[in-house]
Amino acid sequence: MKPPGAPDTVRVGAMDYKIDWVDSTCSFGTDRYGECCYTESTIRLNGQLSAQLLAQGFIHEIQHAGWDAMGYARDSEPRFKSEDVAVFAGNFWPMFWRNNPEALKWWLSLLAKEDVDAHKP
Ligand SMILES: [Zn+2]
Repeated sequence: MKPPGAPDTVRVGAMDYKIDWVDSTCSFGTDRYGECCYTESTIRLNGQLSAQLLAQGFIHEIQHAGWDAMGYARDSEPRFKSEDVAVFAGNFWPMFWRNNPEALKWWLSLLAKEDVDAHKP
C-alpha cells in the first residue's frame, strides 16, 4: 500500500524510476525493507513500514539508484574514500531533491512524525 503523499515515480539522473509500493518485505528477505532494480528502473518499498523506517528505506534505495545513475553501481561497487562519498552526496542529493520537490515534501513529513512504533516489521 502506498503511504499518503508518497511518490509513484522519481527522477534519478537521466532515469525515471517507478516506485512499487508493496505490503510485505517477504519477497525481499527478512532483513530488507526494499530493493532497487536498475534494469527495471524500479524501486520496491514496503509501504507498511513506520515513518522513520520508511524515511530511512527511501533514502537507502534512492542512493542505490543514484550510484547506478552516476556509474558507480552494480556488483563491482568499489570501496569509496570519504571524500568520494561527500562529493557524491553534495552533487547527487541536491540534484535529486530539485528534480523531485514533491518527494522531498513527503520525505520531510516523515521526519516530523512521532514514531514510537519504529521497529514494527
Ligand atoms: Zn542496499
